[in-house]
Amino acid sequence: MRGGFGDIPTTKLFPLLTPADVDSLHQVARTVDEARRDGAAMDWEWFPEHAAFSGRQVGTPIILGLDVTEPAEQGDQLEFLLQVVWTDQGQLAVDAAVNVACWCRTDHATHDVDALTVMVSDETSLPEAFRATAVRLTGWLAEPHDADYWRAKAGLPPR
Ligand SMILES: [Zn+2]
Repeated sequence: MRGGFGDIPTTKLFPLLTPADVDSLHQVARTVDEARRDGAAMDWEWFPEHAAFSGRQVGTPIILGLDVTEPAEQGDQLEFLLQVVWTDQGQLAVDAAVNVACWCRTDHATHDVDALTVMVSDETSLPEAFRATAVRLTGWLAEPHDADYWRAKAGLPPR
């Protein structure tokens, strides 16, 4: 399902959240919305079928995610991602990444040029992990939305 952060059934996706936790997630989501240059609200995507961990599976079960895809030249790609996922061990984690198309001699398809994963644990709550990754994401969104800029930063060949 897709929509604004306010449309997300947060306590259905994350049954252990307290009302204060939910407030915290909304507050953080607003800072992410504000990082969008065109002023449009972010388009979140969520998967209620992944709310409960269902064991190890092919692919990463995404519970909640945000994918800001920048318009790029044909065949090129620049994506900013924020995702709440299950690890193989059934632990919640929040991932953020900047992803670009690969123009190496050997085709790797895409590269994560920057990434951050924060595991949810007894020491780090989901709202804390969400905040830490969202801060990183908004930092990235303030940098140029140009795939070659990100490739250069990571020492990868330009398009
Ligand atoms: Zn490559």
